[in-house]
Amino acid sequence: MLEIKNLHVSVEDKEILKGIDLTVNAGELHAIMGRNGSGKSTLSQVIAGRDTYEITQGEILYNGEDIESWPPERRALEGVFLSFQYPVVIPGVNTTYFMKAALNAKLKHLGKSELDAMDFLALIREKLKQVGMDENYLSRAVNDGFSGGEKKRNEILQMLTLEPTLSILDETDSVLDIDALKIVAEGVNNYRNDERAIVVITHYQRILEYMDIDKIHVLMDGKIIRSGGKNLARELEEKGYSWLEEKSV
Ligand code: ADP
Ligand code: MG
Repeated sequence: MLEIKNLHVSVEDKEILKGIDLTVNAGELHAIMGRNGSGKSTLSQVIAGRDTYEITQGEILYNGEDIESWPPERRALEGVFLSFQYPVVIPGVNTTYFMKAALNAKLKHLGKSELDAMDFLALIREKLKQVGMDENYLSRAVNDGFSGGEKKRNEILQMLTLEPTLSILDETDSVLDIDALKIVAEGVNNYRNDERAIVVITHYQRILEYMDIDKIHVLMDGKIIRSGGKNLARELEEKGYSWLEEKSV
């Protein structure tokens, strides 16, 4: 589903990603781990299509197609979803309105019939339950006055509602208490199926305890220096990132 080949990315002439190779197949759940500043968010934003970042070499294939020229909205319509590390507040835009517009844009793109207000409300109520959010969020502006944890749940709510094919979740765990973390992990686990792929980005391995990860990749200074299975997470927990740093020199 996602194939990244020798990806080099720069911001203002500073190279941040220095040759990333990554393949994620349908049905798989991957984790990308690494210290702050290693380039994790840059990678997620480049996949989503943010134009601050310049691809200087390499390519990103989504279902076999090079998506470099696709604007972010086309990627979203085609099923790519990014949960932001720092979710954006949109004052004055009602959450229900925002979610309904996003979902209907997608349904329209897929040639399906759009949902009316009643049907949408029934759907979103069901999804709210799955992430343990109260219905009063629906009447508030997008992320306005939401706590860190509420913003993260709201991102997962968006994923469950929009039903993306490829989900990139950037540091979804970083501000969650243990109960919220379990709800989010459960949301991700339930959302998984053979046709969907999920990439979880984090610098803690804590969330990995609650998810059945297929593959873990360690990003350091813009490169994936190690890939492995669950054992790698355990080793990282025990020995820290510096253990790999020493090995990679
Ligand atoms: P991570 O998510 O792993 O913490 P980031 O991808 O956010 O790392 O950042 C990697 C490096 O790229 C950092 O040194 C950061 O300062 C730099 N960087 C990221 N985005 C920008 C930007 N828009 N302008 C300048 N530097 C950036
Ligand atoms: Mg980050």
